[in-house]
Amino acid sequence: MTDRPPNESPTCAVKDVRGLGALETLQANASGFFQKTLDAHGSNMVCRAGCSACCHVTLEVFPSEAGRILQWALGLSPDARLVLKAHLLRAKEQGGTFGLDAAGKKRSPCVFLSDGLCGVYEARPILCRTQGSPLQLKKDDGKGNVTLEVDACPLNFQTPGSLPPPAEWLDLERLAVLQVLAERQFAAADNEGLFGPRPKKERVALSEVRKLLLDLLG
Ligand code: SF4
Ligand code: SF4
Repeated sequence: MTDRPPNESPTCAVKDVRGLGALETLQANASGFFQKTLDAHGSNMVCRAGCSACCHVTLEVFPSEAGRILQWALGLSPDARLVLKAHLLRAKEQGGTFGLDAAGKKRSPCVFLSDGLCGVYEARPILCRTQGSPLQLKKDDGKGNVTLEVDACPLNFQTPGSLPPPAEWLDLERLAVLQVLAERQFAAADNEGLFGPRPKKERVALSEVRKLLLDLLG
């Protein structure tokens, strides 16, 4: 009997994920932006490992971001796979335990959250990388007047006057355009069928990704 290669399991349908270069760059830039904010304004932020209020959320992501999580898992060492599998099974067990989100509302945890930590942290979606940064939104009053507004985690920048200036806000409109471009690269790379047909919604639930990951990990 031959040994099975470390990337394969009897039930795993996912063997390879392609076309993720643009997304990886964008994810790295999003993390870099957050780190820059933390370096400059950390004294007014409470983001830290274990603060998981923003992870009490039910997420659907672009197929490329779902693919990125699977690609990351495919590249893990056998030991790291065991750690990930144990984390995912714990997260599954703890799934019914409500927690408070950053606004103090009772919510279910993300399917990747266990003991306050993210199991797929290195491959987490862009949305997760930008939490904590000041996020710039455009508001149109319908009469041609557009103003810039900012959204930020209510746990951060609580001291009056501590919010970073507009030049340091993350432009969500620009980010969305870049994310669509990254998604196109992924779609053009023939990953068809990875998440099955989805005629109405173009998003993948993270619960679906966890299921695929557990299949992949055997
Ligand atoms: S964004 Fe808010 S909830 Fe999330 S880690 Fe930072 S402080 Fe905590
Ligand atoms: S993927 Fe990770 S970082 Fe994002 S919400 Fe889920 S647990 Fe939190």
